[in-house]
Amino acid sequence: MEEAPTSNDALDIEDKQAMLAAIVDSSEDAIISKTLQGYITSWNRAAERLFGYKESEVIGKHISILIPPDKLSEEDMIINRIRNGLDVNHFDTIRVTKNGEMIPISLTISPIRARNGQIIGASKIARDITERLRAQEELRTHARIQELLLSAGRLLSANLDLRSVLQKVTDITTQLSGAEFGAFFYNMVDEEQRYLELYTISGVSKDVFKDFPMPRSSGIFEVILRDSGILRSDDIRQDPRYGKNPPHFGMPPGHLPVVSYMGIPVKSPSGGPTIGGLFFGHSEPARFKAEHEKLVEGIAAQAGVAIENARLYEEIKRLNAKKDEFIGVAGHELRTPLSTIKGYLQLLEHRTPGGIARELTEKALRQVNRLGRLVGDLLDVTRMQSGQLEYHMMPCFLLPLVKESLDTMRQIQPTHPFEANLPDEDIVITGDGSKIEQVLINLLTNAAKYSAEGSPVQVSVQKKAGQVIVSVIDCGIGIAANHLDMIFDRYYRVPDAGRAVSGLGIGLYIAERIVERHGGHMGVKSEEGKGSEFYFSLPLPE
Ligand code: ADP
Repeated sequence: MEEAPTSNDALDIEDKQAMLAAIVDSSEDAIISKTLQGYITSWNRAAERLFGYKESEVIGKHISILIPPDKLSEEDMIINRIRNGLDVNHFDTIRVTKNGEMIPISLTISPIRARNGQIIGASKIARDITERLRAQEELRTHARIQELLLSAGRLLSANLDLRSVLQKVTDITTQLSGAEFGAFFYNMVDEEQRYLELYTISGVSKDVFKDFPMPRSSGIFEVILRDSGILRSDDIRQDPRYGKNPPHFGMPPGHLPVVSYMGIPVKSPSGGPTIGGLFFGHSEPARFKAEHEKLVEGIAAQAGVAIENARLYEEIKRLNAKKDEFIGVAGHELRTPLSTIKGYLQLLEHRTPGGIARELTEKALRQVNRLGRLVGDLLDVTRMQSGQLEYHMMPCFLLPLVKESLDTMRQIQPTHPFEANLPDEDIVITGDGSKIEQVLINLLTNAAKYSAEGSPVQVSVQKKAGQVIVSVIDCGIGIAANHLDMIFDRYYRVPDAGRAVSGLGIGLYIAERIVERHGGHMGVKSEEGKGSEFYFSLPLPE
């Protein structure tokens, strides 16, 4: 093993200087010394490599040959600190090489002192930080890409609005690809030919395209839209397929200059013709790389799914609206002959003295009334949907409404005992009396419908903290907990519950809407096989 040098082996001054010079020369960093006036006094090999000047070219020259004109004032700041015996540590700046190239460097400058301590110059260590900055930039780009991908994923899985999905996809892919502009074109087909329809654009205003006819799906577009292929070109003007499209044969006059070009198809996950394509342009050549293509391709695949979902959703909404419209029209058509039949039956009822004919007329009338209520409910639903159901709000007594509902129920459902638990004093509410009665009839009808014959139904009314609570309690089949949330939905009926019981699944929907329109709340407590309690609250006038 080599022994550590002792003070006896002390190197003489010349050896020491030679050793220092060797260290300086072999350093990876540029090491330069200069006088306080800024004249270069030494220049190592790394400085030659970094700045491109040979030692002989720069000794005695002023340090400002390395400083870009707009950074000359930095030298005054540096010299000032040095004169005061202070260092400059890791100062990131730009210097210029012999051939005029600007390079980012990190500078550390320290004063050089003579034996007597006097400051006679400065040593300057310059490190090329191009790599470090590139790595930092790469990290930033990566983080940005991650963020964009994440937001794309979130957006595409949660959004069902087609236009906003496509706008966001266009914005994000334009950013990810570094394009100057990006656009999504729909693939349209008419009798003669396919053509494209510009749907969303990013990076430039849509006005830029407003006077241009929509491109035909031929030439380059054909690759993307008919063949579902990807096209990425460093210079699209060199592509043999470019410029084949009438009327402009290339980019229309006044179009943004496009050199780098990338087109990526957006396909439907369920097959069929390509939905459309994402197109990106840049005025400089070779801007789109394989990694951009991969990123955009990944988002285009997700976009295909999102577009399909959004389209299906729009289709469902359209069909739903059509269904509501149909129910509305059918309800109106049914109501007129129904009222006529009802009128004739009432006449018959009055004219028939008794016996079997009278009994049958009464039965027919009961069924016609039932039919009338069903049609009325259907019409109410469509009116509620379109916000056209009218309410006539006014102060009214609640207990007479409850009693009248019970009387009606005793007539139409004589198989059930209806009991009432009402307060002695009447209660005034503000509301539409006939609508509140409709709520009560709906709840009481259900209580009877979903319980065995002879099983009692009870209505109770009580005041509680500024509101009145009305409950309808039955001892019927009850409702399983997992259906409780859904029974207030339009057309929802608990599957298999009371199989033989007919209904449209709209009674509770209507009842809840009416109660909410009165500023109240509707709820249910139920246990399967034991019975249910439906209740609603109404605010009391102050
Ligand atoms: P409908 O009775 O015409 O089916 P509703 O909207 O009035 O429609 O009720 C929705 C569903 O809620 C019913 O189909 C039934 O399954 C359930 N339901 C409502 N009231 C009761 C009740 N009192 N007891 C048991 N189930 C009920």
